[in-house]
Amino acid sequence: MVTDDSKRIDTRLVTGGRRKAWTGRLVSPPVERASTLIFDSVEQMRTSRPAPGTYVYGLQGTTSQWALREALADIDPGAAGVALASSGLAAVTTALLAVLQSGDELLMVDSAYIPTRQFCDGTLKKMGVTTRYYDPLASAEEVAALAGDRTRAIFLESPGSLSFEVQDVPGIAAMARDRGIVTLLDNTWATPLLFPAFAHGVDISILALTKHVGGHSDLLMGAISSTQSWADRVERTVFELGQSVSPDDAWLALRGLRTLGLRLKRHEASSLELARWLQDHPKVGAIRHPAFDGCPGHAYWRRDFAGSSGLFAFALKDANKAGRDAFVDRLRIFGLGYSWGGFESLAVPADPVRTATAPDFGGPLVRIHAGLEDPADLIADLDQAFAET
Ligand SMILES: *Cc1c(COP(=O)(O)O)cnc(C)c1O
Repeated sequence: MVTDDSKRIDTRLVTGGRRKAWTGRLVSPPVERASTLIFDSVEQMRTSRPAPGTYVYGLQGTTSQWALREALADIDPGAAGVALASSGLAAVTTALLAVLQSGDELLMVDSAYIPTRQFCDGTLKKMGVTTRYYDPLASAEEVAALAGDRTRAIFLESPGSLSFEVQDVPGIAAMARDRGIVTLLDNTWATPLLFPAFAHGVDISILALTKHVGGHSDLLMGAISSTQSWADRVERTVFELGQSVSPDDAWLALRGLRTLGLRLKRHEASSLELARWLQDHPKVGAIRHPAFDGCPGHAYWRRDFAGSSGLFAFALKDANKAGRDAFVDRLRIFGLGYSWGGFESLAVPADPVRTATAPDFGGPLVRIHAGLEDPADLIADLDQAFAET
């Protein structure tokens, strides 16, 4: 995979994957729907290696999937390969299956996306892989103290997508590399624009493209980016598991990618405006926004991140879960739905699941995704929902 690190990121978002051989005279690659690709000869069939740019079989993609993979590699400095999976969750599970085998132990951050935990406690356990959960605020030394002879992998998610603790990713990654332990990061919140994972020492970085990259709440997809040491293994596992994304969905994800930089800036600005307003509200307790002082791990965010995105949470003071749920029900502009990262604002009750830690959130949490609406209207919506609490 050819990547171009010579241009700045906003330029690479626009140019990535637009090879003339794939696009012809179009700006974007065409959608080429195919399971079967016809070869000219047996010789060609035998010598065609599945790689972007070579028609082999639908599972290995056509122009829109190749272009998306190349464009994603182009914005993730240090990525030797990017593989696509049918959802963000499939990207997480496929990456874990690529690195783990029976008898191994996995250290999983206790703030992980809940379906990631379910995969560890379900399928991985059945395979004979033991998962131990660790505190998202653990130092590299504390994580090192948990690692044993069988520890093969450490999984990080920073910030956690319900409770927003920011981890010491470079510290933990450096410690892991010294010990021959592979690190995997769910980088969905930040994307490579705000947190270039490989520059911080991570081996495998996962994105739910469903969220910020898709950006329009109309597709499911995941990506696994890997360093040179892991790219072949990941690619082979993606193939063995039959992971596939449609050319149409890849085309939509690529369209979303072109405006990712602009959208992230707006999501960030709106989320900061909402969070500042909420911070001053008498009915609001802690603000869990990585850019805010009081957010656990905020110092790591300041040190390592180029900005924040639009997803954060806040605690409702003096409310029980029923009161919190009623507050969410009163919101009119904010939609109530799973996922995030689209153009539309969402609010959901957030109840993190924990095994190894028992953090005090200071009240039931509401998670907000600040969309692209005018933030003044979003604040007015929150205000009217509070008026009745
Ligand atoms: C949504 C999400 C995923 C899974 O993505 P899907 O495409 O919905 O499967 C993984 N990790 C994080 C942090 C997410 O928010």
